[in-house]
Amino acid sequence: MAKVLVTGATGFIAGHVIHQLLEAGHEVRGTARSVSRGPQLDQVLSAYAGKPVHVELVAADLSSDDGWAAAVAGMDYVQHVASPFPATVPKHPDELVAPARDGALRVLKAAKAAGVKRVVMTSSMAAIAYGWGDKRPNPLTEEHWSNPDNLADNTAYTRSKTIAEKAAWDYVNGEGKGLELAVINPSAVLGPAMSEDVSSSIQILTQLMTGKAPASPKVGFCVVDVRDVADAHVKAMTVPAAAGERFLASGRFMWMSEVADVLRKEFPAYGRKLPKGELPNWLLKAMTLINPPLGQLVPELGRERHCSNDKARNLLGWTPRTEEASIIDGARSLIDLKIV
Ligand code: NDP
Repeated sequence: MAKVLVTGATGFIAGHVIHQLLEAGHEVRGTARSVSRGPQLDQVLSAYAGKPVHVELVAADLSSDDGWAAAVAGMDYVQHVASPFPATVPKHPDELVAPARDGALRVLKAAKAAGVKRVVMTSSMAAIAYGWGDKRPNPLTEEHWSNPDNLADNTAYTRSKTIAEKAAWDYVNGEGKGLELAVINPSAVLGPAMSEDVSSSIQILTQLMTGKAPASPKVGFCVVDVRDVADAHVKAMTVPAAAGERFLASGRFMWMSEVADVLRKEFPAYGRKLPKGELPNWLLKAMTLINPPLGQLVPELGRERHCSNDKARNLLGWTPRTEEASIIDGARSLIDLKIV
């Protein structure tokens, strides 16, 4: 069994990666910006696993060199999951780039120096599907790269993911040669939340179920379950052929209104809160004047981004569950946690 470092251990995806690594018998160390979150992390992981769990937590921030050498010391593998994923729009489009890109390089350099076998990095479909304008391939595959310079079809977040993943590949193909890298590119991650501290993607469900969206904006996304995303991370760590490869971890494209329909059918008690009908695009754009975070949705309006998960299925033996299961189990976890 291996020793594995998981960065950003307190996050949504990282929690599931840690859970699956522990279930597979691996030893896990985590990083967090503040180790004071250790007891809470143990509590959350224990509640999810239904048995006592303890994870060693060490301090490291993507924006600083401090702590990374100690964090990777003695590790066989690194799961680099941490990256800023804010629910709000940063003031400047480059605000997320430095922690995402420089943080990834800090992790990779420390891993290389410590003799780590392989790093699995969480990138995103954001590094594949954006900046194409009207020339977007259908389906998108791992061969495709987003163009972060087309600002009309990017957010600060999508730019940060593309630039960080590119920098990671440049590093292992150059100065860092010899260090194995595999990258997972998830689409919108739903599925069960472990705690009240929910990721931005889970807010798709919380917004719908708390009545915050009277009508669905005409936006959609490819849905994937957090348990399947974690499974892809664990598989990419040890499947020999995964080294040097990126993998789209994604299910089918769904409009927000379709997600609302799945929820309406499964949770009739929330029927009054769920949006009915679609919000006109002009109205959403007007609403960004009083609610700037909605600006994140503008590049998505009316856009379909379809992607293929053939490579993950064929090379990793990855078999994701249905999008409906991911939506329903995600919603149920939010009800159980009394978030909605
Ligand atoms: P969370 O917000 O739950 O997790 C993000 C994690 O990154 C947190 O643990 C956070 O730590 C950490 N982090 C952020 N900034 C820093 C920093 N400067 N230094 C150290 N750690 C930092 O989101 P997710 O679990 O959803 O996201 C995890 C990864 O998955 C990210 O790389 C994200 O881009 C990627 N991803 C997510 C998708 C989704 O739909 N959820 C889709 C595709 C990719 P802290 O607790 O200290 O804030």
